[in-house]
Amino acid sequence: MDELKKHIKILMELGFEEIFTEEGSADMDVKEKEKLMLQINEQIQNCTNCDLYESRTQAVLGEGNLNAKLMFIGEAPGGEEDKQGRPFVGRAGKLLTKLIEAAGYRREDFYIANICKCRPPGNRTPTPWEMEKCFPYLKKQIEIIDPKVLCLLGATAGRAFLNRNVAITKERGSIINWEGRILYLTFHPAYVLRNPDAEVVLFEDIKKAIQIALAE
Ligand code: URA
Repeated sequence: MDELKKHIKILMELGFEEIFTEEGSADMDVKEKEKLMLQINEQIQNCTNCDLYESRTQAVLGEGNLNAKLMFIGEAPGGEEDKQGRPFVGRAGKLLTKLIEAAGYRREDFYIANICKCRPPGNRTPTPWEMEKCFPYLKKQIEIIDPKVLCLLGATAGRAFLNRNVAITKERGSIINWEGRILYLTFHPAYVLRNPDAEVVLFEDIKKAIQIALAE
């Protein structure tokens, strides 16, 4: 019943006025999830809630398995993501993909998204205000996908969830309860590109996050 209430709440927030149900369909199926994601995509492509819309080519929703037990969450699209409309497809994304594959999985097994849907000019860090304005979109995505673990890539993503500064070198590897889900903090792959010694740590963290997410 809680699941059903949650799904109805999401539909209402997205502007549905009538909901037709089929008997025995309390769980959202993938088709329904796709529809809701398309609605969010339409909203973000037209969003002007913060200043970042002015310089974007397009907003970047996220991509992957809509039934994923694990979501990887970065801070915001970079240049390549802004151009392609896909998350983590630039240099940092290639490293993330490589490490997921080295762990024995494909990036499509999980869902990959960002706190901010639009690229900050010059790839600067998004401001707390920009993150706050954009966070409700991500929150809806999390409710739709309903993952067990959110693997937060970098201090900025950590800050958006915890509403405080995060010292990522000290706090990486932490497991934090957030609204009934597990937050797993680790390095941003862009940090690892600048500090190659940290790659092994990011790899171990990715494996750990996957292991927690897929454990029965
Ligand atoms: N960095 C991020 O935080 N997100 C992306 O999608 C790409 C680079």
